[in-house]
Amino acid sequence: MVAEVIINSTAKKLNRTFDYNIPKELEELVFVGSKVLVPFGTFKTLEEAHVIKIKESSEFKIKDIAKVENGLTDKQIELANWISKRYFCNVSECIKLMQTPGTRTKNINNRIQDKKIKVVYLKKDIEEINFEIESGKIKSEKQKRILNFIKENEGYTIPEIESITDCSRAIINTLIKNEYLELLETKIERNPLNNKEIENTKNLKLTEEQEYAFNKIASKIDKKEYEQFLLYGVTGSGKTEVYLQLINKVIEQDKTAIVLVPEISLTPQMLERFISRFGKEKIAVLHSKLSIGERHDEWERIKENKAKIIIGARSAIFAPVKNLGIIIIDEEHDSSYKSEATPKYNAKEIANKIAKEENVPLVLGSATPDLTTFYNSNSGKVTLLRLTKRANQSNLPKVEIVDLKQELANGNRSMLSFDLYQAIEQNLKEKLQTILFLNRRGYSTFIMCRNCGYTVKCKNCNISMTYHSYENKLKCHYCGYEEKVVKNCPECGSDKIRYFGTGTQKLEQEIHKEFPNAKTIRMDVDTVTKKNSHEEILNKFKNEDIDILIGTQMVVKGHHFPKVTLVGVIAADSSLNIDDYRATERTFQILTQVAGRAGRENLPGKVIIQSYNPENFSIQDAQKQNYEKFYETEIALRKQLKYPPFCDIIIIGFNSSEENEIKRASNEAYEFIEKKLDRENFKIFKPMPSPIDKIQNKYRWRIIIKGNMNEQANGIFNELLKELYDKNYKNTKITIDVNPNNMA
Ligand code: ADP
Ligand code: ZN
Ligand code: ZN
Repeated sequence: MVAEVIINSTAKKLNRTFDYNIPKELEELVFVGSKVLVPFGTFKTLEEAHVIKIKESSEFKIKDIAKVENGLTDKQIELANWISKRYFCNVSECIKLMQTPGTRTKNINNRIQDKKIKVVYLKKDIEEINFEIESGKIKSEKQKRILNFIKENEGYTIPEIESITDCSRAIINTLIKNEYLELLETKIERNPLNNKEIENTKNLKLTEEQEYAFNKIASKIDKKEYEQFLLYGVTGSGKTEVYLQLINKVIEQDKTAIVLVPEISLTPQMLERFISRFGKEKIAVLHSKLSIGERHDEWERIKENKAKIIIGARSAIFAPVKNLGIIIIDEEHDSSYKSEATPKYNAKEIANKIAKEENVPLVLGSATPDLTTFYNSNSGKVTLLRLTKRANQSNLPKVEIVDLKQELANGNRSMLSFDLYQAIEQNLKEKLQTILFLNRRGYSTFIMCRNCGYTVKCKNCNISMTYHSYENKLKCHYCGYEEKVVKNCPECGSDKIRYFGTGTQKLEQEIHKEFPNAKTIRMDVDTVTKKNSHEEILNKFKNEDIDILIGTQMVVKGHHFPKVTLVGVIAADSSLNIDDYRATERTFQILTQVAGRAGRENLPGKVIIQSYNPENFSIQDAQKQNYEKFYETEIALRKQLKYPPFCDIIIIGFNSSEENEIKRASNEAYEFIEKKLDRENFKIFKPMPSPIDKIQNKYRWRIIIKGNMNEQANGIFNELLKELYDKNYKNTKITIDVNPNNMA
């Protein structure tokens, strides 16, 4: 017998099959999906590969498979093939998502026996590292590879990193010496939930709305049928209780449940609710802060069918479950469900595909659903279930909007408005807690008039234009339209034009100046890098009478602090002016969620939103917590300007050290798709430099395409990649991303 295998490699030229003979003694052990070791090329070492087909014979002269290890099911291989086509990447890269983590690492066994070991964490801020990589300050390919790996995988040992990234120890040490990375001692905890003593809880009596939603979904579990549900309910309306009871039902039928949550909300607070209902033996947790040993163990427990409930971030959708009964995606609007690294998959799409194949319901939950999901619930693709009331009778907080233009007119130049200042002062007096939220994102800068709130937007795209300092120009990142930088506001003539991008550090200093006795704690990418540190900060805030928590996006999600009665949003505009068509949607989501942090129990909550654009509908609707009103306005705009869900945005990205080559490659790509794509459906923009465009020795170009992605177009894009690869643009890397999170 002969096996067709895929070599485990990211090299584009190895994205094809090779034949190997299956020796007699291995015939019983090699299946489609098996992981094997094969002699390859002129190298003396064995390469890892996966079997994707078994056949009688081969037309080539072939070598023997050397060894078989544990493998994947043929369903998983099929899914890997599908992902490879849909998200334009190598099959082997998709297979990796489904493999037991760590099996490739020889050190894993020593590691698991160790009690205390040293593992590597980032020392520098991720944004700074990204910037240094993009700007070419970090030149070494190997250094970049290591940093990119650790950005997503903190907590690995040096030998593990050596083996996974195929780089030597010396390079890792250099990065430690130069303070990009640091080595910290960590304790291996075999089961991340081991040390918790948690009381049991029982099913609560569901409210009428909860019961209706529960019955709808439960009937699909019973009938073993697929259906996609949107469980739309304000924060505190009891969505989690509905999940818990659905999972209970699934377990009673001896099936398993996958629950996806945004990485950041995988906190013990949240896990405790699951453990208290089901006990820790049945639960497996998967997220990037686990050590590789922990991840390996969790994966094995799932394979052995010991863990029945899998709770994890995006990649947990690939957990090797048996007998699936339901998939739940909490906070379904969260952007972390879309991967920005290759494979650039969308976990919601994958979940939908798996749910269909396994005939199980898929439940998407949110207080501020993704616009596309809500749109689909109107067209019948998704069944809408509403929870309109808070389950524990607490009231939604009062939200006040402060006009920062007015503050400025009154001579207040500080980051705190008069009202917010007074509210903080009052809270300090009453020994209540405050959260101050600063909406910082990326390093793109925009320009705004502090007098009237005017920002320069592209006249074609209605997207804020980004300031490029080295050319002193404003550019639209969508269509390439450029404008000169204005000195005076075109709207009101004022010269109070400012570049925006404020930091948490500056805010903390200002608070200390205004309130010298206030105890503060900061939570942002600078302070949250180490294992549990996110958790430590929140625990400190909760238990060590700290008055004010200052933070970025991270403070927004899913925490429950009974003593927080005041939430201040420093400048709501910073997310309103990112150069992205989702700017208003993100602003609405963030403001609504941040408002949900105040007054969770019996103390009434107050929220103050400071803004230069207080009349903007996303801020107005967030004040009233009125998602549906926001939806109506925004969906009309999307329709008019033709943005998702009315089309997909496809970005073909080029990255090259050769300027001529990148131009030739992108022009050839442009001509190719222009000829082949159906022009009725697709609008193709000419190739142009990316927002972060010419950077030392690497050029970045891209082609933007708007249209409805379909089978045929997908085929054409895959053809394009093959065509360009065959042309052999040696120095140019080409990627394709559909509806990326970040347009930069
Ligand atoms: P969500 O997930 O929508 O934010 P939760 O499920 O966390 O809402 O519920 C909010 C609070 O209401 C929790 O403290 C929860 O225990 C309580 N709760 C939920 N459902 C019920 C119910 N049917 N009866 C009483 N309390 C409930
Ligand atoms: Zn103005
Ligand atoms: Zn434009």
